[in-house]
Amino acid sequence: MVKTQQYIQVHFFSELALKGGNRQMFLQQARSNLNKAIRDINEGPPIHRSMTTLIPLHDESLWPVLNERLKNVIGVERFERAWTTNPDLDSVKSLISYLVEGSNANSFRISTSRSDKSLPLNSPQINQELGTYVHELTGIGIDLNTPELNIRVRMDRREAVISLEEIRGASGMPVGSSGKVAVMLSGGIDSPVAAFKMMLRGCKIDFIHFHSFPLVEGTSREKAKDIVNLLTQFQLNSRLILVPFAEIQKQLIVTVPPAYRVILYRRLMLRIAEHLAIKEKAGALVTGESLGQVSSQTLENLSTIGQVMKHLPIFRPLIGSDKQAIIREARALGSYEISIIPDQDCCSLFVPKHPRTRSHPREIELIESKLDLNSMITQAIENAETYDSRWPVK
Ligand code: ATP
Ligand code: MG
Repeated sequence: MVKTQQYIQVHFFSELALKGGNRQMFLQQARSNLNKAIRDINEGPPIHRSMTTLIPLHDESLWPVLNERLKNVIGVERFERAWTTNPDLDSVKSLISYLVEGSNANSFRISTSRSDKSLPLNSPQINQELGTYVHELTGIGIDLNTPELNIRVRMDRREAVISLEEIRGASGMPVGSSGKVAVMLSGGIDSPVAAFKMMLRGCKIDFIHFHSFPLVEGTSREKAKDIVNLLTQFQLNSRLILVPFAEIQKQLIVTVPPAYRVILYRRLMLRIAEHLAIKEKAGALVTGESLGQVSSQTLENLSTIGQVMKHLPIFRPLIGSDKQAIIREARALGSYEISIIPDQDCCSLFVPKHPRTRSHPREIELIESKLDLNSMITQAIENAETYDSRWPVK
């Protein structure tokens, strides 16, 4: 009987290895996020190595659910089931023979990495020795380029870890390692993708959604909640702030010429969102805007709209992406199906056929000077509701 213990071996995002003096901070965040994601199902404390972690797996039936959880942990580049044994060649050989027994693969290779340079053989020598051994034992041919079975061996002073399969994770910087940002979440396709991109750069996300209920039905609010629930799988808990915009729109409709409405809506949204973001201690505001996609996203209008920001930077992670690429990302993320559910967007409401594509801040400021912006903003903030989401849902 082979002396072994089964684990899931998790490899953290390789970019974290480049972080120099901050590497430990990033790794600690990654490990802590990983622990939280599997807290209710793990079978003993994970064992942390430098760029990898071993999660004990005694009960095989937990593998599918752990597999699903690990795919959603940002900061995990790949993972696989793995078996450990003593770091000597005889133990490794007997473990491999146990693992490949009955395999119907037609080709294989051995890929060794060796962090303990004092071991008697180097990695190519170990590959050769083990390759010959497995070939003689099973008759399977060696194929270094496209093997059906890639037997990975990691050896250090403490242990040898053998794994056969490899599953891709989400990669990215661990959520929280870059602080918190607030995402302006519409019911559309773009903003959930923008949020996910910021998560992959290590941001914890708060969400802000403006809705025109009861001027229109409440579908957009439900869509926003569904999208937040989906994205919460990657950060375990989220806050969505639902801001009523109907009153503001009613007032603007009577005072603002149609061609300027979208720009005014957006400037008001940003002012309110900046206030809420600061209250939630977010360090930036994020939108799903992409240059030239619609009239409010021309260079002039982005500039006119963005100028109302007083304290926080505004990030537009999709600014250079085309719609087809964004749709592909939304499909992969799973948000696309929610985004395409029909709803009345609060900005498409009462929008003219020919909105201004060019604008100047001064003409907009003149229109705004006739409005009581402060009371509009205060009222919207006072009437905002919060919705908190958690994952896994208990
Ligand atoms: P999306 O697909 O994200 O809705 P879009 O291409 O439809 O984007 P717009 O509707 O002009 O473009 O919105 C641009 C950005 O403004 C959105 O990506 C989002 O960040 C923000 N935004 C628009 N509407 C709302 C809303 N109702 N609540 C919060 N943010 C919004
Ligand atoms: Mg939209």
